Amino acid sequence: MTRRKQPRTRRIDLLLDAELDALRAAGHAGHVAVRTCAGCARPSPRAGLHRFAVGPAGSLEWRATGGRGAYLHPERRCVDRFLSGKAMVSGLKARVDRRSRHELMERAPFRAEG
Ligand SMILES: [Zn+2]
Repeated sequence: MTRRKQPRTRRIDLLLDAELDALRAAGHAGHVAVRTCAGCARPSPRAGLHRFAVGPAGSLEWRATGGRGAYLHPERRCVDRFLSGKAMVSGLKARVDRRSRHELMERAPFRAEG
Protein backbone atom coordinates (compact mmCIF):
# COMPACT_ATOMS: atom_id res chain seq x y z
CA MET A 1 0.00 0.00 0.00
CA THR A 2 1.35 3.39 -0.90
CA ARG A 3 0.66 6.31 1.33
CA ARG A 4 0.48 9.55 -0.50
CA LYS A 5 0.94 12.56 1.67
CA GLN A 6 -1.87 14.98 1.07
CA PRO A 7 -1.27 18.68 1.50
CA ARG A 8 -3.48 20.31 4.12
CA THR A 9 -4.07 23.26 1.88
CA ARG A 10 -4.08 23.61 -1.85
CA ARG A 11 -3.50 26.53 -4.04
CA ILE A 12 -6.56 28.49 -4.93
CA ASP A 13 -6.08 27.86 -8.65
CA LEU A 14 -7.34 24.28 -8.16
CA LEU A 15 -10.77 25.52 -7.21
CA LEU A 16 -13.62 25.60 -9.62
CA ASP A 17 -14.29 28.92 -11.26
CA ALA A 18 -17.66 29.32 -9.58
CA GLU A 19 -16.13 28.71 -6.17
CA LEU A 20 -13.37 31.19 -6.88
CA ASP A 21 -15.84 33.83 -7.93
CA ALA A 22 -17.81 33.29 -4.73
CA LEU A 23 -14.67 33.62 -2.61
CA ARG A 24 -13.58 36.77 -4.40
CA ALA A 25 -17.04 38.23 -3.93
CA ALA A 26 -16.74 37.47 -0.22
CA GLY A 27 -13.49 39.42 -0.09
CA HIS A 28 -11.03 36.55 0.14
CA ALA A 29 -7.67 36.95 -1.49
CA GLY A 30 -4.73 34.63 -2.00
CA HIS A 31 -4.78 31.55 0.18
CA VAL A 32 -7.95 29.74 1.17
CA ALA A 33 -8.11 26.54 3.20
CA VAL A 34 -9.20 23.76 0.87
CA ARG A 35 -10.25 20.22 1.70
CA THR A 36 -11.26 17.24 -0.40
CA CYS A 37 -14.81 15.88 -0.21
CA ALA A 38 -15.01 12.22 0.85
CA GLY A 39 -17.88 11.80 -1.60
CA CYS A 40 -17.04 13.46 -4.90
CA ALA A 41 -13.29 13.81 -4.17
CA ARG A 42 -13.42 17.40 -5.38
CA PRO A 43 -11.27 19.98 -3.62
CA SER A 44 -13.40 22.71 -2.16
CA PRO A 45 -13.13 25.60 0.29
CA ARG A 46 -13.24 24.31 3.84
CA ALA A 47 -16.23 26.52 4.63
CA GLY A 48 -18.51 24.63 2.24
CA LEU A 49 -17.80 21.20 3.72
CA HIS A 50 -18.91 19.38 6.87
CA ARG A 51 -16.19 17.72 8.91
CA PHE A 52 -16.31 14.34 10.57
CA ALA A 53 -13.64 12.49 12.48
CA VAL A 54 -12.83 9.27 14.25
CA GLY A 55 -14.10 9.72 17.80
CA PRO A 56 -12.60 8.41 21.05
CA ALA A 57 -14.59 5.16 20.79
CA GLY A 58 -13.39 4.56 17.26
CA SER A 59 -16.67 5.40 15.56
CA LEU A 60 -17.18 8.24 13.12
CA GLU A 61 -18.62 11.42 14.56
CA TRP A 62 -19.46 14.85 13.24
CA ARG A 63 -16.81 16.95 14.90
CA ALA A 64 -15.53 20.39 14.11
CA THR A 65 -12.11 19.68 15.57
CA GLY A 66 -9.84 16.91 16.81
CA GLY A 67 -8.76 13.55 15.52
CA ARG A 68 -8.17 12.62 11.92
CA GLY A 69 -10.82 14.41 9.96
CA ALA A 70 -12.52 14.07 6.62
CA TYR A 71 -15.00 16.30 4.85
CA LEU A 72 -18.24 16.02 2.96
CA HIS A 73 -20.35 18.37 0.85
CA PRO A 74 -23.96 18.64 2.08
CA GLU A 75 -25.12 17.41 -1.31
CA ARG A 76 -27.10 14.30 -2.15
CA ARG A 77 -24.69 13.06 -4.81
CA CYS A 78 -21.73 13.40 -2.44
CA VAL A 79 -23.58 11.59 0.36
CA ASP A 80 -24.62 8.81 -2.03
CA ARG A 81 -21.08 8.36 -3.28
CA PHE A 82 -19.75 8.36 0.26
CA LEU A 83 -22.31 5.73 1.33
CA SER A 84 -21.55 3.44 -1.61
CA GLY A 85 -17.80 3.66 -1.11
CA LYS A 86 -15.74 0.89 0.40
CA ALA A 87 -12.19 2.03 0.28
CA MET A 88 -10.07 4.46 2.20
CA VAL A 89 -11.56 7.73 3.26
CA SER A 90 -9.19 10.51 2.36
CA GLY A 91 -7.98 12.23 5.50
CA LEU A 92 -8.89 9.42 7.88
CA LYS A 93 -6.24 7.06 6.52
CA ALA A 94 -8.59 4.23 7.38
CA ARG A 95 -11.09 1.98 5.70
CA VAL A 96 -14.64 2.73 6.70
CA ASP A 97 -17.22 0.00 6.28
CA ARG A 98 -20.68 0.61 4.90
CA ARG A 99 -22.45 0.31 8.24
CA SER A 100 -20.25 2.99 9.80
CA ARG A 101 -20.93 5.26 6.83
CA HIS A 102 -24.69 4.84 7.20
CA GLU A 103 -24.57 5.38 10.96
CA LEU A 104 -22.65 8.58 10.42
CA MET A 105 -25.12 9.88 7.87
CA GLU A 106 -28.09 9.12 10.14
CA ARG A 107 -26.65 11.74 12.50
CA ALA A 108 -25.69 14.26 9.82
CA PRO A 109 -25.98 17.88 10.97
CA PHE A 110 -27.32 18.85 7.55
CA ARG A 111 -29.92 17.79 5.06
CA ALA A 112 -28.39 16.65 1.81
CA GLU A 113 -29.60 18.76 -1.08
CA GLY A 114 -29.58 18.32 -4.82
ZN1 LIG B 1 -18.57 16.42 -2.68
